[in-house]
Amino acid sequence: MTQFTDLGLAKPLLKALADKGYDQPTPIQAQAIPGVMAGRDLLGIAQTGTGKTAAFALPILHRLAEDRRPAPRRGCRALVLSPTRELATQIAESFKAYGRHLGLTVAIVFGGVKYGPQMRALAGGVDVLVATPGRLIDHLGEKSAVLSGTEIFVLDEADQMLDMGFVQPIKKIVAHLPAQRQNLFFSATMPAEIGELAGGLLRNPLKVSVTPAATTVERIKQQVLFVEQQRKRALLAELFDDASFNRVIVFTRTKRGADRVAKGLVQVGVEAASIHGDKSQGQRERALAAFKAGQVRALVATDIAARGIDIDAVTHVVQYELPNVPEAYVHRIGRTARAGASGSAVAFCADDERNLLRDIQKVTRQTIPSFDRRNDRQLGAATAALPEVAGVKADRPDTRGQGGGRSRSHEPHHRAGGHRPETASDLPPANRKRRRRPNKAQGQGQSQSHAPQGPAQAVAASNAYKGPKRKPQPARWSPLD
Ligand code: AMP
Repeated sequence: MTQFTDLGLAKPLLKALADKGYDQPTPIQAQAIPGVMAGRDLLGIAQTGTGKTAAFALPILHRLAEDRRPAPRRGCRALVLSPTRELATQIAESFKAYGRHLGLTVAIVFGGVKYGPQMRALAGGVDVLVATPGRLIDHLGEKSAVLSGTEIFVLDEADQMLDMGFVQPIKKIVAHLPAQRQNLFFSATMPAEIGELAGGLLRNPLKVSVTPAATTVERIKQQVLFVEQQRKRALLAELFDDASFNRVIVFTRTKRGADRVAKGLVQVGVEAASIHGDKSQGQRERALAAFKAGQVRALVATDIAARGIDIDAVTHVVQYELPNVPEAYVHRIGRTARAGASGSAVAFCADDERNLLRDIQKVTRQTIPSFDRRNDRQLGAATAALPEVAGVKADRPDTRGQGGGRSRSHEPHHRAGGHRPETASDLPPANRKRRRRPNKAQGQGQSQSHAPQGPAQAVAASNAYKGPKRKPQPARWSPLD
């Protein structure tokens, strides 16, 4: 079995890897690192979770360190383009971690934040620049970034770039790069348009393809629950009655859906935060940090926001709606079972999503165990029986704690109030207005749901739940472990 020490990487890099406790390269690392160190272009077919960041970061850092020279002013020696801010941040963190004994500089440029600090970071030049396309183009337009001295160009998550409409911006950026450069190109899938883009960029590339889809899929315990669309919310609340649903990513198809589902969880006493493209950078960072710290049990996300997010110990992935693209199913479930761990994934499937499920099973070449929760009278029965008390909220003022009346209290993971098995948007339009108002009132202050609480407390609190008892689950539904 190959070891990192076999690959000829510079000593400070081996030390940083040892600091992290990594001694064996993953398959993409073992296959890509020697060629990239030798200066070859690379076409990597791989998704996050395969170790692809280190597969390009390590040889890039090695090359920069072996041939030290000042970074070009307002520019960089290596440029990495990433589709999302979160992924850009993660990539930059990886470069910093692997390069910590090398003394190289790393900067990040993405939208949604002020230009000034980015301009200052770029002014003197940096060794590694990680950027999202839109903001980098702004800097190029302002001449606060100049890319003519770039030696290595990395395009990460190219298929995601395509989905987000970044192909033209990428071409614009590439036009600013010098003709003589090394190119590394990563994509999880190879649709024709991405193949063309790669063909135009790469010169005699080394091709490395890892297929984590199958292995990831195998490691993850998966279930599909058939359920009526309007009862998904009750089913989700029921899943969270299980204390092992401790750090859960819930996927929705739309941004509004993410907000709605997070709000619904908060209403039933589950700490939840949503993350999607309409949230400010600060909101996204706070939601992620609270989730990583175990202060919220559920992170409700759209595909784009969750893409590439690497969070340890995600216990479950719930797909509130099935994705339109089957590959997204694999990306989603891959958020659990990181770095070789096992994980569980539950997908809700309404009748009108059966076609999507068929496509997913075809692409992943598996039949996912399914359970029929339609017409299940147990589902939502406990919560539906609760009175609809508009004044009972997950965030009612705390008159018991030290904070006095001004602080807000959450009864973690308890059913703090009445729960309706429908969200306003699930109702026919004529009924929506009537329902929406009380929902709004109940959802107020949901940002307060990030009240600090550790995972241990969360489990203890969940176990301590003394709320309305549910009848035993029907035999055909077995909770995931
Ligand atoms: P990535 O595919 O780059 O998102 O990496 C997935 C996860 O695997 C990250 O948490 C990495 O820190 C971790 N990782 C990368 N390379 C290795 C390795 N050789 N051994 C163990 N973990 C690794």
